[in-house]
Amino acid sequence: MNVAENLAEVLAEIPPGVGLVAVSKFHPASIISEAYGAGQRCFGESRVQEFLEKEKDLPSDIRWHFIGHLQTNKVKQIIGKTTLIESVDSERLLDLIDRESAKAGVVSRVLMQVHVAKEETKFGFYPEELLQYFSERRFEKLTNTHICGVMGMASNTDDLSRVRADFREIASIYRSIADDSALGLRGFDTLSMGMSGDWRIAVEEGSNLVRIGTRIFGEREY
Ligand SMILES: *Cc1c(COP(=O)(O)O)cnc(C)c1O
Repeated sequence: MNVAENLAEVLAEIPPGVGLVAVSKFHPASIISEAYGAGQRCFGESRVQEFLEKEKDLPSDIRWHFIGHLQTNKVKQIIGKTTLIESVDSERLLDLIDRESAKAGVVSRVLMQVHVAKEETKFGFYPEELLQYFSERRFEKLTNTHICGVMGMASNTDDLSRVRADFREIASIYRSIADDSALGLRGFDTLSMGMSGDWRIAVEEGSNLVRIGTRIFGEREY
């Protein structure tokens, strides 16, 4: 497993304007250091405890994206330590992030996770729910949270037309919010879609941030 080589190959394929989150969950800090040594600065983690353990020992210029389901009782522990929380999947979680950010005197940047996949196991706002959140301008009460865009996952299936349709739906939700000038959102410009197996389709459908783990770091041992 040559992390630097994998990383270079992935970076060579990703078009300009598309960011890369190297998803390092379940991999040790040493492998993150390898990617860091090869120039990568943005990493994705999905579990709070694991993230905190890695974060404390690794260089402070790493930009950490939290990409997993965030339990409300753990929010406080990660506030101020992430560049982007990509997996805001409920209004309750969002409000809590806002409150804890205010207490800590920081502004948290987040993405709203939307659920379109045909699996019960995935988290996120349903499309109508998310659109309603914005049309009712419920974001206006946030004081210490900047909503930067949308994150989503496609169904876990070999049916690529299904995968494409899912990404298309996520992108269309993202655009209907981003293009609604009446909302007056600023910096709502991030559409995070695509993982190792499907990121090319995601980029074709408009993603500007891909989250790639296995293709860079190899299979995870759970
Ligand atoms: C694990 C994970 C990824 C990376 O998946 P790979 O298939 O290993 O590239 C991307 N996004 C989320 C939300 C994840 O949990």
